Amino acid sequence: MLTCKELVANSSDFLDRQLSLRLRLSIRAHLAMCRKCRRFIRQMRLSQAVLRQLPEGQSAELDALAAELARRRRDMR
Ligand SMILES: [Zn+2]
Repeated sequence: MLTCKELVANSSDFLDRQLSLRLRLSIRAHLAMCRKCRRFIRQMRLSQAVLRQLPEGQSAELDALAAELARRRRDMR
């Protein structure tokens, strides 16, 4: 039986469908029993979908925006 840690370690390959059938089946079996990992996989799937929708370079802009907001918050004090 797969542990939660092993599932997490294989989760991105699982979502990319890069795993062998055997490993995929043990992950599915684990997910059927483990609510925590089901939630984890769902979150992973969501964030992958969001990332895929961002155009190239957008994440760099988001980083710059986050840095700018942090700087302004500092200035306000
Ligand atoms: Zn688990």
